[in-house]
Amino acid sequence: MSLAPPPLRNDCFALPAGVDWTPVDDALDHLRRNLTAVTAAEVLPLGQALGRVLAEDVFAARSNPPQANTAVDGYGFAGPAGEGPQVMPLSEGRAAAGLAHEGEVAPGQAIRILTGAALPRGVDTVILEEDVTCDGAQIAFHGPLKLGANTRRAGEDAAVGDRILTKGRVVTPADLALASATGLSELPVRQMLRVGVLSTGDELVEPGETAAAGQIYDANRPMLLALLAKMGFDAVDLGKAADDRAALRRRLDAAAEAVDVILTSGGASAGDEDHMSALLRESGAMQQWRIALKPGRPLALGIWQGTPVFGLPGNPVAAMVCTLIFARPAMGLMAGASWAEPQGFDLPAAFEKRKKPGRREYLRARVRNGQVEVFKSEGSGRVSSLSWAEGLVELADAAAVI
Ligand code: AMP
Ligand code: MG
Repeated sequence: MSLAPPPLRNDCFALPAGVDWTPVDDALDHLRRNLTAVTAAEVLPLGQALGRVLAEDVFAARSNPPQANTAVDGYGFAGPAGEGPQVMPLSEGRAAAGLAHEGEVAPGQAIRILTGAALPRGVDTVILEEDVTCDGAQIAFHGPLKLGANTRRAGEDAAVGDRILTKGRVVTPADLALASATGLSELPVRQMLRVGVLSTGDELVEPGETAAAGQIYDANRPMLLALLAKMGFDAVDLGKAADDRAALRRRLDAAAEAVDVILTSGGASAGDEDHMSALLRESGAMQQWRIALKPGRPLALGIWQGTPVFGLPGNPVAAMVCTLIFARPAMGLMAGASWAEPQGFDLPAAFEKRKKPGRREYLRARVRNGQVEVFKSEGSGRVSSLSWAEGLVELADAAAVI
């Protein structure tokens, strides 16, 4: 019997029918609705809190500034000052940052005052030293000057009891400044989400090993581990597993004990050697998503012994795009952070493209001279394109001519 190739389908150049493809937004909504924080809370000194997710809202323990003070070097007095030339006798002493001036400045008098100094009693207005002549006994300047000029009100930045930071926020260097300025020495944060990374495939060899014909070096694991660390997760190297179902099962069992989330790459489609998708299906909670996404299919999602598993595609480009678009916001929620939408901008395109309807596309891109360039090839095995790119162009699900 001769074997004939299958007949051409009349939709062979179109996408498979849209009905059973999950739009990217539906997939994201699903994750957003179903995932919650899994990490425990702890209290850390400010010096260790950078990059952590806040477990609670944070309130100022002290006002910033704590007292009204001067924003400039100059002379303080009771304002306002009227139009025209002003002459004021100088009061004894001076007020400097950290050195409270105990005395009261009498009405009509001025006192030498330095940036950051609390305003002495009797002072509510400061004239800049550059605008003043001084002979040691009195000062002269040209009015008018408004009441409160060149001063900062007590609590104008943050008042004691104000909510300064909200739960779910990832602590930034500036947040540490704000917390410290408002009298805090520690922050309520969540422990880091532990994310395990496992590569699968008989063809993979480790960096430094000798690669035989047909073998390739593992590109996904170093990339994903580094990406996760940069995202603020505790990235755990789970090594690589062969295309062997029993072995893979044992690896997943051990990983589920050790980490909060598992990212695997490879073996996520429906082929003979696609053991990840087969195992996740077997585990019962398998969601095999045919997401209307390019590149990025197939993404296998499941729960293995209570631990969520993202079965990423093996192709490095697809693995990275799926991590950025799906795994990142999902892991963020599990880490206790608020849902993070990637920031997008409309920019002039330095490329042309006709896009078919039906699935969302992400192109490896970078911005040069205010225009978006895309990589010369859309191949999903092009590791060099990931290194070249600095971001992604997102093309909406509908058809488009760019
Ligand atoms: P798979 O999803 O297992 O069918 O793999 C799809 C493609 O990605 C194949 O060409 C694999 O060799 C390749 N691939 C899978 N895992 C990796 C990896 N960790 N690093 C580089 N390429 C990989
Ligand atoms: Mg494979």
